[in-house]
Amino acid sequence: MSAVDGAEGAVVTTASVRWPADWPARRSGEGCAYCARIGGGSHAEAVHVLTGGFAEVYLDRRPQAPGHVQLVWRRGHIAEPFEATPEGVDGYWREVVITSRAVQRVYRPLKLNVMTLGNLVPHLNTRIVTRYWSDPAPGGPLPWDLVHSPQETPEAELQRQADELRVALDELGFS
Ligand SMILES: [Zn+2]
Repeated sequence: MSAVDGAEGAVVTTASVRWPADWPARRSGEGCAYCARIGGGSHAEAVHVLTGGFAEVYLDRRPQAPGHVQLVWRRGHIAEPFEATPEGVDGYWREVVITSRAVQRVYRPLKLNVMTLGNLVPHLNTRIVTRYWSDPAPGGPLPWDLVHSPQETPEAELQRQADELRVALDELGFS
């Protein structure tokens, strides 16, 4: 069962058991919540960290463990990386890789998972998720229901981490 936040129209918080009937429309960008957010800064689910040439970088407010960062393609609605121009493909993955490096530097996890899914909101985005000794499912991907914690990280702590990420991204030549 998908849970859709009525305010924004498509903020899906739980994995679905089957594809929604309006999937083709969503896939083509109709009512896309991520498109609506581009350029809008921080929102209910994440703190805005930085805007690159190809993606916006956000820090998730409810990580399962510290350091869940999301890049969202910011040049219009596409669902798959291959739908970008060659320049877009190169630029997007460069920003994903540099952001991954920054996350590793700031949080020092045992492993990063770089997940380009879009099964709930089909707008190109990539989540960088940290895995630690305390991990609930070390041998595989985190089950979607464990990607987010019920607890929101306090705002001051999120802002502190976002500042650290900005410094790291700058030093690593993000933009
Ligand atoms: Zn979109």
